[in-house]
Amino acid sequence: MVSKHGGYCYGVQRALKIACEAARGSEGPVHTLGPIIHNPGVVRELAATGVSSVDSLAGAAGTIIFRTHGVTPQVAAEAEARGLKIVDATCPYVKVAQQKASSLKERRYLPVILGEHEHPEVVALIANAGAGAIVVERAEELDLARVRGKKVGVVVQTTQASANLSALAGRLAPACRELLVYNTICNATRKCQEEALELALLADAVIIIGGRNSANTARLAKLCREVQQRTFHIEEVSELEAGWFEEAGTVAITAGASTPPEQMEEAKRLIATLTV
Ligand code: SF4
Repeated sequence: MVSKHGGYCYGVQRALKIACEAARGSEGPVHTLGPIIHNPGVVRELAATGVSSVDSLAGAAGTIIFRTHGVTPQVAAEAEARGLKIVDATCPYVKVAQQKASSLKERRYLPVILGEHEHPEVVALIANAGAGAIVVERAEELDLARVRGKKVGVVVQTTQASANLSALAGRLAPACRELLVYNTICNATRKCQEEALELALLADAVIIIGGRNSANTARLAKLCREVQQRTFHIEEVSELEAGWFEEAGTVAITAGASTPPEQMEEAKRLIATLTV
């Protein structure tokens, strides 16, 4: 069973198209600020077309592409000050989350951001929400003393699991004076996670394809592992092992948002040969 909603999401497809157009339309060097997506193979292919990744603006010249995660207003201002041509491939759903974070600050809510502390998307959300924003990865992390009796507003990293948000809202609601929740989990993530869970419940083994450092892929693997212990997270199809499929009548395949559909099909073909 191959997931319909797994693999490249809208934001990633859009960013790759923007990067390819920038490569074709620019005379000088073209860089992405960090790898455009969490897929080493795709990053290599893009580099072959002339779009290389840099870790900081100091290493960039010509055109700089902001990836789907978005950047802080400070980084955008620095790129401009350095005279770089900015191509913004921030996912529109991420932009909405950033706007919601800013609006919490303007409306004097205490912002609580649900997301991974060091993730670039969360770093940009913090910058929009302003100093004093609280970041938690899980509801249990929240120190209730910091929110008790206050007007609290929540924004969510777009790739978080819905159950995580429910747990946080449930913990906050009785403690604060007023609670405003912006559910900024994107539709692509929600559909992919819901479908992955359905498939994992039906399958004897689950394969999740995606970069090792991809947060949304790791989350998919965690969700599926909760209902199917034989869940394996791979980055490359060559990592598949025949032993994983012993007595497995049904295998489900899904993938993180940075995985091309061809890689899922390749995995399907190889698994068919490993399970005969
Ligand atoms: S996972 Fe959602 S928010 Fe993130 S890039 Fe894809 S569509 Fe955009």
